[in-house]
Amino acid sequence: MERRRKTDQVPGDVESYRRAWRSYVARRNLVVVLFLSFLFLGLMIGKLKLGERADFVILLAWIGVYLAGAWWLTEWRCPRCGKIFGNRLWTQRCISCDLSKEEVAAVVHGRTLTR
Ligand SMILES: [Zn+2]
Repeated sequence: MERRRKTDQVPGDVESYRRAWRSYVARRNLVVVLFLSFLFLGLMIGKLKLGERADFVILLAWIGVYLAGAWWLTEWRCPRCGKIFGNRLWTQRCISCDLSKEEVAAVVHGRTLTR
């Protein structure tokens, strides 16, 4: 039985998938951390009692940071077609070429694609 090379199974360049995946994970983790920090921030605001104006400013600033993080996540580019993967935060498939995040992860982790 002939063993197939990795490049036969994988569309495109594995290294570029790896880079893209790392970049995606970093962005996703950032958004998750920002989201969790919002809960923490809510607690802190409740405890500190800085006054409505200060609370409002802190919340507004945090929302700005969160939106920036979320925007960065949506700016993630598909490793196969090079276009923006999705315009929503948790899109599972590329809006341009239908590549799924699962498939990217499978390539990165050296599994064969099940199709
Ligand atoms: Zn794509």
